[in-house]
Amino acid sequence: MNLTKAEIIDLLSNKEPHKLYLKADEVRKQNLGDEVHLRALVEFSNICRNNCMYCGLRKDNKHITRYRLTKEEIIETAKNAVDLGFKTIVLQSGEDMYFDEKVMCEIISAIKKYDVALTLSIGERTYKEYKAFKDAGADRYLMRIETTNKDLYHKLDPNMSWDNRHKCLLQIKELGYELGSGIMVGLPNQTIESIADDLLYLRDIEVDMAGIGPFIPHPQTPLSNQSGGTLDLSLRTMAVMRLLLEDINIPATTAMEVLHPNGQILALQSGANVIMPNLTSATCRRLYELYPNKEKSVQPLEVVAQKLHSINRTISKGYGSHKKNKL
Ligand code: SAM
Ligand code: SF4
Repeated sequence: MNLTKAEIIDLLSNKEPHKLYLKADEVRKQNLGDEVHLRALVEFSNICRNNCMYCGLRKDNKHITRYRLTKEEIIETAKNAVDLGFKTIVLQSGEDMYFDEKVMCEIISAIKKYDVALTLSIGERTYKEYKAFKDAGADRYLMRIETTNKDLYHKLDPNMSWDNRHKCLLQIKELGYELGSGIMVGLPNQTIESIADDLLYLRDIEVDMAGIGPFIPHPQTPLSNQSGGTLDLSLRTMAVMRLLLEDINIPATTAMEVLHPNGQILALQSGANVIMPNLTSATCRRLYELYPNKEKSVQPLEVVAQKLHSINRTISKGYGSHKKNKL
């Protein structure tokens, strides 16, 4: 659907979002049906060279215990997920350079021996590394642009460059990955106009997946006193994304479930069609604390299945690629 920036701003600020949620739900149903794709999330290292002001894993946070799974542990966790029936594995971490090209490629080729799609979410790398990961079998890459307001980005991500992140996203796309990106909603000084720009950016770079979640302040970061994003504005933003790109994959994000006990179900009824259950061991995922109470979002798979059933949605048995691609 074509929407101007003014129309997007209107939808994001409208006092009565119910109609927007219904419309996004209808567009999701028309384009993608009632199937929900489950992705198994494996958080394999909380070590990070960056210092993003919002993130609990930032390098200067000395209060967390750092961990790094071994190559064998990562492959075994992925295998467990495959045995449980997952058709997509998402490997996520801080920017931990122990996982260089060679180590990552070994992990990727081992996991790709199973019948599964593989997504990486390991941050900014070189073109050469992205190419090597793709050649080793990685199918998709997730990296949020976080915000398209460059000034805000540079305040929040010291020593990082918005232009470089943008360049990485274009390279990932060019290499033939399915591209996932997204933003946080409710960042300090972020405006509705800026969120509208973010949505248009995600449309223009033609993402195959868009992850939109509220910013949740972490007590051990410089942004601990901020108020953070609301579920309402995050849902609106996600719903407008669905109107702009009608058939892409949109997750009901973990951060939404943290803000509201039914956050992910509300998201699935407002345009989302993906859930990413956390398959990391309880000990490690508690240490992968991007924001507080992340653990609240973890639910047994049977509960997830029941909840989906209760809203007449089914669990997909396919790989869940973007509809326009095939795998
Ligand atoms: N390190 C990689 C990167 O930054 O792209 C991948 C992992 S990173 C932890 C995944 C995402 O977590 C980030 O893109 C960011 O949007 C989100 N995140 C980090 N801190 C957050 C917070 N306090 N509230 C909500 N989301 C947060
Ligand atoms: Fe590191 Fe990603 Fe957290 Fe930034 S958001 S500190 S890159 S893990």
